[in-house]
Amino acid sequence: MNGNETGAFTPKLDNVAIAVAEGGIALGTRLEGGIVTLESVPQGHKVALVDLKPGDAILRYGQVIGYAARLLPRGSWIEESAVVLPKAPDVDEIDALPFSPPARDLAFEASLDRELAGLSGIRFEGYRNPDGSVGSRNMLGIVPSVQCVAGVLNIAAAKIEKELLPKYPHVDGVAALNHGYGCGVAIDAPNAEIPIRTLRNLARHPNFGGEALIVGLGCEKLAPERIAPSCAGCQGRAAVGGGAAAAPAGASDIVILQEQAGFAGMIATLMAEAEKRLERLEARRREAIPLSELVIGVQCGGSDAFSGVTANPAIGYAADLLARAGATVMFSEVTEVRDGIHLLAARAADPEVRRRLLEEMRWYDVYLANGGVDRSANPTPGNKKGGLANIVEKALGSIAKSGRGVIEGVLSPGERSYEHGEGRRMKGIVFAATPASDFVCGTEQLASGIVLQVFSTGRGTPYGLAMAPVIKIASRSAIAKSWPDLFDLDAGKIATGDSTIEELGKELFAMILDAASGRYEPWADRHGIANDLVVFNPAPIT
Ligand code: CA
Repeated sequence: MNGNETGAFTPKLDNVAIAVAEGGIALGTRLEGGIVTLESVPQGHKVALVDLKPGDAILRYGQVIGYAARLLPRGSWIEESAVVLPKAPDVDEIDALPFSPPARDLAFEASLDRELAGLSGIRFEGYRNPDGSVGSRNMLGIVPSVQCVAGVLNIAAAKIEKELLPKYPHVDGVAALNHGYGCGVAIDAPNAEIPIRTLRNLARHPNFGGEALIVGLGCEKLAPERIAPSCAGCQGRAAVGGGAAAAPAGASDIVILQEQAGFAGMIATLMAEAEKRLERLEARRREAIPLSELVIGVQCGGSDAFSGVTANPAIGYAADLLARAGATVMFSEVTEVRDGIHLLAARAADPEVRRRLLEEMRWYDVYLANGGVDRSANPTPGNKKGGLANIVEKALGSIAKSGRGVIEGVLSPGERSYEHGEGRRMKGIVFAATPASDFVCGTEQLASGIVLQVFSTGRGTPYGLAMAPVIKIASRSAIAKSWPDLFDLDAGKIATGDSTIEELGKELFAMILDAASGRYEPWADRHGIANDLVVFNPAPIT
């Protein structure tokens, strides 16, 4: 997978190549194999390596990404309108196939084991919680049960940061979560359990140490008790290992604004409750923890045609290493895996995992169909400019983030990884179903318990999360160079032959351990860049 002097990039089995060179490939350039470009090809876009007749399959990643819409002689630029979108793989057809265990690449597994054996005592420095979870940060979390309180809460949070936080040097920060849910919503409608469990699980996030404060208004539809960490009756199926054990019996972790004496009373109560928690959080220290206790997430945003051959496979290699060491790595973004579901289904650990994967695809198919969504709604205009012709090409590149290993489990949006399999955590590579939207995926993965996220982008986005570190990887060197104070890693070096997927993957693996341990501060964190949390609410708003 090396670029050549003329800047074309051709994995085996493909009948198209990607223009690597900055500025693209000029008309009349002679490529490897004597192919001469018939048009100029923008960077990241595809050039035909063979003569394609109308209807011929266009192969990228060794998979059909579409069919030629017209005659495309070799050397042609294959732009979006030249590619006919294939049908999505039929979920029922996959379901009807007899299950066969995933093919294991033993040589690859042995090479991962050699890498891991070379790292002395693979541990990270994290915060142990009473419920068994492990945090990467020590934060005061404040979770509103309804948007009505957000205005007051923001003022209180700023005051806590300015006046209280400096007194508690072992507390990393204050995260006052803002969201649009809580009232004016159909609380008992089908699918309303998704936003409700998302908020409940955000309040129990490992980085909050079981000390999150819930702030309610007093008349909202979502009773604050339903999302409080101490709520005994709120664990649902998750009776084991939940946050309830973290809160002392009888402790109140809810402040109701309607019960306070005016604005001054609200601020005074919130400051007092915050200080109580800061005192307890201040006593916490990092300790050496086996890598098998780490839970991270991966996602991409603003992708381009390089994402699938540089950044995402490097993330995939790091994911394979982590999973091999027993850590949990969540990948998500249903619409961006849907067209590669046949490849994921073949990696399912057992029939139940395959069934759950297909179930999440079906649910989303119905959700999108009900909304009348056209499949061409994803990719975005920016993705297309970056050379991604359609959702199939985007999906094949996107799933590279999940590595090559066995998929061990599936979570519905906002479900916690700690509460499956009779209290055991789901380990290894896990599909956590979420929308592909960056901030919704980030929010839902946080609810599922990630304490760090790896984020790849080719077009560039300054994305960040307040609750957990975000490591950002550029898929091409041009964007990494123009944003040196936003990217932590440049995977464009893979396309130019200056690094390999494995080398970059190992670099990322080490960076993940450092960031989870507080030894490395990713760029987004240094600047304090944090997107709003956007809770996934597929239920009606009233
Ligand atoms: Ca995304």
